[in-house]
Amino acid sequence: MDTGQKKIILIIEDEKKISGIVRAYLEEEQYSVIVAATGKEALGLLGEPFDLVILDLMLPDIQGEEICRLVRESSDVPIIMLTAKSSEEDRIAGLGIGADDYVVKPFSPRELVARVKARLRRSSRPEKTLMSFNKGALKINVSNYEAFINEDPVILTQTEFKILLSLAENPGRVFSRDQILNIVQGYNFEGYDRTIDAHVKNLRHKIESDSKSPAYIKTVYGIGYKFTGVPDED
Ligand code: CA
Repeated sequence: MDTGQKKIILIIEDEKKISGIVRAYLEEEQYSVIVAATGKEALGLLGEPFDLVILDLMLPDIQGEEICRLVRESSDVPIIMLTAKSSEEDRIAGLGIGADDYVVKPFSPRELVARVKARLRRSSRPEKTLMSFNKGALKINVSNYEAFINEDPVILTQTEFKILLSLAENPGRVFSRDQILNIVQGYNFEGYDRTIDAHVKNLRHKIESDSKSPAYIKTVYGIGYKFTGVPDED
């Protein structure tokens, strides 16, 4: 895995039970974890060089949204919000003020850890902007939202690109429609997981040579989708 130093993750969460569980899962994955149980405590730590922040929105003293704003004034550290709020407006507001991702309670610690890993992978390798699959048949330029099929550019909407990128970054991993919806909601929120099917259908039309027998995005019946392209060696 990554060489050298452990990544440091700040958990801002007043519920000890939750921060304890999340800490245990993250430490199991070799991350260093620091917990702040109040907003004040968190603000006192903001000068420290964290690699990622997990932020609960419902804190006893300072609102999570306010903390998010304050962090964003001086840092682009990835922020994953934790919250019991689950209405569409809250989700959009959370992403609108600079959170990178959003997990609704009750959540699975495993799922949260997977998202932490995905965020850290993304932020630690900014130089790798071109992904290539199936011997160059599919290329994805992460930096400018371009995709190429057999070197020909494919015009994707932001939502389609976001879905493609999220799946392609995790080949073989099964994503539920809800998870995909969560990933794309900051771009084009429509609120129903079935709309994901429509996006995937459009995406397939653009990137698959045979939509009925897709090479890249396979349906996992009853669950969602997974990416089945084969990453090319660097
Ligand atoms: Ca709380």
